[in-house]
Amino acid sequence: MSTDLLRIYERLGSIARDALDYALSIIEPGMPILELCEKIEDRIRQGGAKPAFPVNIGINEVAAHYTATIGDRSVIPRDSVVKIDIGAHIDGYIVDAAITVSFNPMYNQLIKAAAKALEAAQFSMRPGVPVSMVGAQIERAIRSFGFKPIQNLTGHLIRRYELHAGKSIPNYDNGDRQRILEGEVYAVEPFSTNGSGYVDDSPSVTIYRLMKNPKPKDPHYDVLSYINNEIGPLPFTPRWLVHRFGNDVVKVIDELYSRGYIYGYPVLIEHGRGLVAQVEDTFVITRDGAIPVVNVLSLLR
Ligand code: MN
Ligand code: MN
Repeated sequence: MSTDLLRIYERLGSIARDALDYALSIIEPGMPILELCEKIEDRIRQGGAKPAFPVNIGINEVAAHYTATIGDRSVIPRDSVVKIDIGAHIDGYIVDAAITVSFNPMYNQLIKAAAKALEAAQFSMRPGVPVSMVGAQIERAIRSFGFKPIQNLTGHLIRRYELHAGKSIPNYDNGDRQRILEGEVYAVEPFSTNGSGYVDDSPSVTIYRLMKNPKPKDPHYDVLSYINNEIGPLPFTPRWLVHRFGNDVVKVIDELYSRGYIYGYPVLIEHGRGLVAQVEDTFVITRDGAIPVVNVLSLLR
């Protein structure tokens, strides 16, 4: 990896770390999720990056892919376990990281299980190691706490402007013999649960992505081309379009989604309605091992 790229990842790491640190300092029960998402996204922008995707807030059995909607009135519930998953990018180079906060000490072990799993993954990742071996380490750590890993959520190879660039880091030994290579960048995200260990798609969608370059004959070309120019192929939410197109943009996005012009990420819910914790960091693979870009584990201590 070039020194320029390493420098960008150093910057991204400190921006994401600051944003998560800031999130930890402001989050509390009763806080509107809309306010939380917008403040964290603003913090990323102030740091000199762009959000690589809308801030995901996952409460209790909601595992991933929920972000505040326009006019969202939901708040952080009491006694909840809350995942804060953020992305930042500079020129398409992406960092992806998440922490979990508990407002009931009963859930601390669930979070610790995910954190220990991330630590085990970090120590096992180096060039030549099959991805399933990292998954085995993640599963072993989570099961040692008496919880289950979520099997149908994975970490992922990251490339420029590509959040999920092919190879996955499973959260269990799935037998995938593809190897980790020097110079690659991976997000690794163990999810621990006291539920069934699977997530289901819910009917609700709050995060979308452009699927192809828009053409002038496409419906709502103004909205599509704005997304293409300002956000590109990375995920977005209608909230980000309101200042330009007004509140009606929700209907436009709905229409573009149902007509197949944009992709939607369903909100993911734990199948057994179990509680879910997630700890995620982005790692640069060097000859000597995996370097955490954000070092989220140090934020949890
Ligand atoms: Mn993430
Ligand atoms: Mn990720």
